[in-house]
Amino acid sequence: MRPEVQSELTPFLHTVAHASQAVLLLDYDGTLAPFHARRDQAYPYPGAALILQDIIRNGRTRVVVISGRDAPDVLPLLNIHPCPEVWGVHGLQRLRTDGSLEMPHLDERTLDGLSDADRWLGYQQLRHTAEFKAGSIAVHWRGLSEIEVEDLCARVMLGWRPIAQHSGLDLLEFDGGVEIRASHADKGDAVRAFLSEISPDAPAAYLGDDATDESAFRAMEGRGISVLVRPKWRQTAAQLWLQPPDELLDFLGLWLKMCTQYDTFDSGAAAAVNG
Ligand SMILES: [Mg+2]
Repeated sequence: MRPEVQSELTPFLHTVAHASQAVLLLDYDGTLAPFHARRDQAYPYPGAALILQDIIRNGRTRVVVISGRDAPDVLPLLNIHPCPEVWGVHGLQRLRTDGSLEMPHLDERTLDGLSDADRWLGYQQLRHTAEFKAGSIAVHWRGLSEIEVEDLCARVMLGWRPIAQHSGLDLLEFDGGVEIRASHADKGDAVRAFLSEISPDAPAAYLGDDATDESAFRAMEGRGISVLVRPKWRQTAAQLWLQPPDELLDFLGLWLKMCTQYDTFDSGAAAAVNG
């Protein structure tokens, strides 16, 4: 890890070491896992899942994945036990560690808009590019050439823009595609909702890579640290920047070390917080 990053992290990690409970919030694609043209094969960076599993097993950190994917899709890719809590579709869904899944309540106007958006893709013969999720449809163009992306984007947006306007849906561009979705929540709302359930003294971190993570970075202000995980730096609201995979693994390794090094500290409070 670059020394300047480590020195910025040290005071925060010190609070993690001495807290009875800490919170680690992570995006999945692009943050824990490198992008893959086949989304069902986007496995975590080698070593990352194992450290995360050890952090959960240590019992002092509440680990939560906040992803744009449908929440149940994340767990088989991450493949760790016990599994973390997962918020899916940018916070619309919540999959708890006991397996219960909270789905968004969608009104009729939203559902009509989503089925119009689906019909538009069918009319354009583009349904094969789409991922259908609870309250959302995402078109993916990772792996296509620049010209193909331009063409695909133009064809999708030609129909989706008026549908979004008419139905009150959000259009959300992300790294590798565009999404039309119920406008109830973004990752910032998910972070605020989650943190409202946690003691304000619990040190918290959010790690993400995408434009959709910016609202979550802002939600961390005054509440913990926000970390951009990305091979190249870009303009961001995040306080720190880590280059994956090495600095990500260093970060997770340091987190685990802090939790285990001080394991004897207040062992009574170290009951499993992930349950
Ligand atoms: Mg991401």
